[in-house]
Amino acid sequence: MKEEKTLYIVVPCYKEQEVLPETSKRLMKKLRDLEASGKISKSSRVMFVNDGSSDDTWPIISRLHAEHPEYFSGVNLSRNRGHQNALLAGLLTAVKKADMIISMDADLQDDINAVDAMVDAYHEGYEVVYGVRSKRETDTFFKRFTAEGFYKVMKALGVDIVFNHADYRLMSKRAVEGLAQFSEVNLFLRGIVPQIGYKSTTVTYERAERFAGESKYPLKKMLAFAADGITSFSVKPIRLVFNAGIIIFVVSLIMLIYSIIRKMTGVTSDGWASLMVSIWMLGGLQLLGLGIVGEYIGKIYNETKRRPRFIIESVLDQDGEA
Ligand code: UDP
Ligand code: MG
Repeated sequence: MKEEKTLYIVVPCYKEQEVLPETSKRLMKKLRDLEASGKISKSSRVMFVNDGSSDDTWPIISRLHAEHPEYFSGVNLSRNRGHQNALLAGLLTAVKKADMIISMDADLQDDINAVDAMVDAYHEGYEVVYGVRSKRETDTFFKRFTAEGFYKVMKALGVDIVFNHADYRLMSKRAVEGLAQFSEVNLFLRGIVPQIGYKSTTVTYERAERFAGESKYPLKKMLAFAADGITSFSVKPIRLVFNAGIIIFVVSLIMLIYSIIRKMTGVTSDGWASLMVSIWMLGGLQLLGLGIVGEYIGKIYNETKRRPRFIIESVLDQDGEA
């Protein structure tokens, strides 16, 4: 029989005292069933990451660990660092012990039953399994509209992102180790994970409503998150400025010719031609200049992220497979 693999389920929690008792109950049952069916080892755990909550979240996590150390572990961050950072803290802590890691929200919006399909996909050899929402009926029209618009804008800007996938996913140990090599501070996991590579697949699930408590992503945080996502992965907005500069510069040349003709045919008032031409030319040249400077800033920006230039999946050499 093949050696059993250890699963860690990483759950970032920010002021989730209302949902944790239920979430932990359901996750414990899930682990127990998976262990019984031999799909995961007995060292598998649910790892709750407390993201600097001011409520009873950490005391609840500590109690869960004290009562059932064979199911629950906890990580306590020194202060609130936001969902993406909390998730990363959990992933990088769990990777030391786990063979595969699933990340999931605490509020039970991610259907826990999709875990089975993810683990199966892992055993079939997939290293990244994306949880994809089949429909968004439980979301408000506004949330659905803004979220789907966001995915489309990201795609249009050339960012490799999985449509309707949030942060519910399974990653193999190797994939998380690859993720650890991305040293950027501005973290946008769902954009980075596809960059890691390896064999991946998707599992669809229905997104439920938040079990209890309220969303920790108010509109303001959502907009900041979206802006972060776009500016962390794309220098296209800079190109837009550059292109606008070119267009306006071309228009200024047309205006130049047009103004000279008007001047020659003598139907303009004094000063009109020179004013028109300078307004367009200066505007166009300024935008062009900005675009060029921006292009260099974009380069610096990409360099400072110090992303890994490659991740090797396997090597065939004289000693056989490495
Ligand atoms: N979360 C976190 N830190 C934060 C905000 C949120 O760890 O600063 C966690 C939260 O506890 C939940 C997940 O991130 O497990 C998703 O948050 P939420 O469900 O509020 O977002 P929504 O589903 O409304 O987009
Ligand atoms: Mg939620």
